[in-house]
Amino acid sequence: MTDRRVVVIVGGGFSGAACAIHLSQRSQEPLDIRIVEPSAALGMGIAHAAVDPDLRLNGPAHIHSPYPDAPGDFADWMARTGEAALDPQATAASGLVFARRGAFGRYMAAEVARHARSNPSGSAIDHVQQQALRASPGAAHVEVGLHGGQRIRADHCILALGWNAVGTPRELSAISDHPGWFGNPWATHRFDAIGSGASVLLIGSGLTASDTFAVLAAKGHQGPVLALSRRGLRPASQNPHRSTRSMWERVFEQDPPLLREAGHALSMRQTVALLRRKIAEVDEATSSWHVPFDEFRDAAWILWNQWSPAEQRQYQRHVKSWYDSFRFRNPPQTEAIARAGVERGQLGFAAGRLRGAHRRGHGLHVSYASRERGECQTLHVDAIINCTGPQPRPSASQNPFWQALIADGVGRDAPGGAGIDVDMGGRLLDAHGRVHDRLFAIGPPTNGRFAEAIAVPYIVRGILDVARHALPHAHSEPTVLQGST
Ligand SMILES: Cc1cc2nc3c(=O)[nH]c(=O)nc-3n(C[C@H](O)[C@H](O)[C@H](O)COP(=O)(O)OP(=O)(O)OC[C@H]3O[C@@H](n4cnc5c(N)ncnc54)[C@H](O)[C@@H]3O)c2cc1C
Repeated sequence: MTDRRVVVIVGGGFSGAACAIHLSQRSQEPLDIRIVEPSAALGMGIAHAAVDPDLRLNGPAHIHSPYPDAPGDFADWMARTGEAALDPQATAASGLVFARRGAFGRYMAAEVARHARSNPSGSAIDHVQQQALRASPGAAHVEVGLHGGQRIRADHCILALGWNAVGTPRELSAISDHPGWFGNPWATHRFDAIGSGASVLLIGSGLTASDTFAVLAAKGHQGPVLALSRRGLRPASQNPHRSTRSMWERVFEQDPPLLREAGHALSMRQTVALLRRKIAEVDEATSSWHVPFDEFRDAAWILWNQWSPAEQRQYQRHVKSWYDSFRFRNPPQTEAIARAGVERGQLGFAAGRLRGAHRRGHGLHVSYASRERGECQTLHVDAIINCTGPQPRPSASQNPFWQALIADGVGRDAPGGAGIDVDMGGRLLDAHGRVHDRLFAIGPPTNGRFAEAIAVPYIVRGILDVARHALPHAHSEPTVLQGST
C-alpha cells in the first residue's frame, strides 16, 4: 500500500495507453496508475491489434503519435526498429507513409512499456489484466469493481473503453446463427471459412468494407463481392496535395481562422453553405477540396457545440453520411486494391435499404429496397460480412461495464446516442446531468460531445483536457508543432 493518488484507466487500447503516458509525464507527484485491460497487450485495442498486412492506418504516420510536440515519433520508431524496412509499400506516391495498423499497435505497446519503466513523475504504471464491471463514485473516491471480484479504490477513474462491438442490423437477426454470417468484421481469421469462389455481401461501404475486401483479396478470394449501403457512398481518397497547416495545429486551435473569418457563431445551414463556398473557391491545379474540408473537420468540436439540439439532429439526418464519406478516407494502398477489384468486375456497390434475410439451401437470401429504382431486389449469396461499424449507445451495449454504469445512473447516453455524456472537460454526467469530478471519459465514447473524438489527434486533445482537470497542478501543455503536412 502506498499513499500515492490512484488513477484507474478502464481500457488499455490506444486511448488508455496514451492517457497513462501523458499522466505520468505531466503529474507533479508520483501517481499509482493502473490500466484495467483484459487483453495481454496494452496500446493495441480493436484497431491496432490487426495482424493482416493490408490493414493500414487511414492517415499518414505523422498524425499517429501520442505526442503533439513530436508528430514524427512513430515514423522514427519504425525506422529505428526495422519496421519501416519490412514494409516498403507503406510509402505512397505522395511520399506520405501509411503504416500497418499492427505496427502502430506495437509502437504504442513499446511506448507504454518504456514509460512504465521510467517516467518524469516517477509514477507506477501497472497493467491489471481483467475486465472492469462497475465504477461506483463516492464523495472522496471511485470504486472500480473487477471481474475477478477485486475492487480498486481510485482517486480518479478514466473510461477508455473504446468501441462497442459491431451491432447486428435488425433485418439480419434471422440469420445471425448461420455459418455464412460474419458479424464481426475485425475477426478476419474467420474469413478463412469463406470459399475462394464464394459470393460475398458486405453490409456497409465505408472504410471497414474497403478493409474487408483487402483482406479477402489477400486471402486469394476470387468470387464476387457486393458492398450494400443505404446511399452507396464510398470513402474518399487522400489529399493528393500537402495541406498548408498541420492537423495537430488545427486540432489544438481554440480560435480557428475560418470561425474568426465568419465573425459570428455559424448555424448548421450557414456552416454547410460556407463549406460549399470554400470548396468551390479551391484552385484544383494546386490544391483540393480536402484543404477547406479539413479546416471544418478540425473545428467541428466548436461548431457542433454551437448548434442547437434541433440543428444537431438535422445534421445527423441529412448531412452526416455525406460528411463521413469525405471524412473517412482510404489509405492509397487500400484504395488501389478496391479499384483493382472494381476494374476486374469482382467488387461492386449498391445503394439500398435492407429488408430482410433468410436461409436458402446452404446460402442466404437477402432482400433490399434499391435506392435508385425504389423496387425490391433479392440476392443469393454464400456469405455476409457485417461492415456497419460499432454500435454507439452505451445503453444498448453488451459490455457489462456500460450496462452497470447506465443501470446505476452513474452515466447516460450522450444526446443523439453517440457515446456517453460528458462535459467539455471530459467529465461524466450522471443520469440527472450532474457532473462527476472523479470520473472521466476519453476517445470514441466522447464523440457525442466533441463530434470528432475518434482519430488519434482528437483522442490526444481529449486526454490532455482530462489530464488538466484530473491533475490541477499538471506540468504545462506540450508545444503543438506547426507547419505543413
Ligand atoms: C478498424 C478500425 C480502424 C481504425 N483506424 C484508425 C486509423 O487509421 N487512424 C486513427 O486515427 N484512428 C483509427 N481508428 C479509430 C480508433 O478509434 C483510434 O485509433 C483508437 O485506436 C481508439 O482507441 P481506444 O483505446 O479508444 O479504443 P479501442 O481500441 O476500442 O480499445 C478499448 C479497449 O478497452 C478495453 N475494454 C472494453 N471494455 C472493457 C472493460 N469492461 N474492462 C476493461 N477493459 C475494457 C478493450 O479490451 C479494448 O482493448 C480505427 C478504428 C477502427 C475500429
